[in-house]
Amino acid sequence: MADSLLNSFERVHAATRRNRLADVATRRRRLAALRRLVVENRAEIARAIDADFGGRAQVESELLEIVPLLLAVRHATRHLGRWMRDERRPVALPFQPARAWVRYEPLGVIGIVSPWNYPLLLSLGPLVDALAAGNRAMLKPSELTPAFSELLERLVAAAFEDDEVLVVTGGVDVAEAFTALPFDHLVFTGSTAVRHRVMEAAARNLTPVTLELGGKSPAIVAADFPLPEAARSIVLGKFTNAGQTCIAPDYVLAPAARVEALAREILAGVGRAYPDLQQNTQYSSIITQRHRDRLEAALDEARLGGARILRPEGAGEGPKFPPAIVLDAPEDSLLLTEEIFGPVLPIVPYRDLNEALDFINARPRPLALYAFTNDRAAQAKVLDGAISGGVTLNGTLLHIAQSTLPFGGIGASGIGAYHGWHGFRRFSHVRAVYKPGRFSALEHLGPPFGRLARLAIRSLGR
Ligand code: NAD
Repeated sequence: MADSLLNSFERVHAATRRNRLADVATRRRRLAALRRLVVENRAEIARAIDADFGGRAQVESELLEIVPLLLAVRHATRHLGRWMRDERRPVALPFQPARAWVRYEPLGVIGIVSPWNYPLLLSLGPLVDALAAGNRAMLKPSELTPAFSELLERLVAAAFEDDEVLVVTGGVDVAEAFTALPFDHLVFTGSTAVRHRVMEAAARNLTPVTLELGGKSPAIVAADFPLPEAARSIVLGKFTNAGQTCIAPDYVLAPAARVEALAREILAGVGRAYPDLQQNTQYSSIITQRHRDRLEAALDEARLGGARILRPEGAGEGPKFPPAIVLDAPEDSLLLTEEIFGPVLPIVPYRDLNEALDFINARPRPLALYAFTNDRAAQAKVLDGAISGGVTLNGTLLHIAQSTLPFGGIGASGIGAYHGWHGFRRFSHVRAVYKPGRFSALEHLGPPFGRLARLAIRSLGR
């Protein structure tokens, strides 16, 4: 395995050194190939993901993976020509006459390691930006979605040259060998638990990384906001893909007096969204029994600690993990300390907005932050008072869908951001070029230093 992996890498690497740049036509051709790959196989892709999950809503695969990916391809294809243009930069007076500009050049080979929860979007999404920036790439999708990963390997092999883009499949051993390759940049989307391993492996090669991680993203419901509206949006954000979404609201902060009413609204909302839950094909399954057991254990621990667990009526027992709202979870319980990544939603009471912000700021920096309030001053207070990767106000999830906004975390939730121009920039080397004019005085500055040097020190060193 190690030999063939290294051979593959060397093939792609050699191609990036032979053809260092990629013109706009080449980049558009690659993006078009990627688009065709998805459009022509969308049903098979959704079926593979469904099989891997043992029940993943097809409408979720379409709406949350295929559509955003096609939008990203369209956005990049449309704007690429402008993004690629050299940019003139002003030159300070003492250096004139001279010209300065930056060139956006490909980095080379981009390694992309992706998780199972949105297997298509999180493998091919970074690829869109990497290709837009003129790079070649190698992908390592998750071992927990074997049907999808094998399909992707086959489709990519048919759509691209084997020194352009290729997919490597396998388990953790392959992932470790993959992240040890001397990529020009490595993008890892995955868990907080594995991020150190990835960054350590990359550090050995001085490979720069983009880490797209998770964490506990809070949703604040303020005192003024209509509960039915907040509940509808929280149901969408939390129970889509059965809560297995990196930017799902992990827990809710609500004024103490509104906690019970909000819990009731959310439960009613879940009931309306997913009637006949156990048979409902629009409600996704938990990826493996191990992940299910982890959620059960966290609920048991909270219950033992005195928490109340509320479930929507008729959710029943069966293959689908029934949604749960948790009140009075102990502060040191798993539910309030670890990323939940499932359809379990603790609601934490607060007395005033300051207390809610303190609660957030006492914890690692989250990937997303949601705040429901129509009060402009409260919106500003939340934006100013707590940091996060991104924010949606009066809604959930949709900041990720804006191709003009960067997507990424901060602190424990990640390093670096991509999407649209920000992804193009992330996977480009911004190369500085300076060209003095023929009569540039500073060009004559050199040893033995004399009058010109003294003049330069006096005028520049003020
Ligand atoms: P994971 O970290 O277990 O696995 C992700 C990838 O890393 C897989 O391809 C796996 O093969 C590989 N991997 C595993 N061990 C490795 C090692 N030792 N060295 C190198 N690579 C290794 O994550 P997961 O369970 O698949 O995904 C869930 C996590 O991902 C959650 O924490 C979630 O918040 C996060 N996530 C983040 C984003 C984002 O965009 N920020 C998106 C989706 C998921």
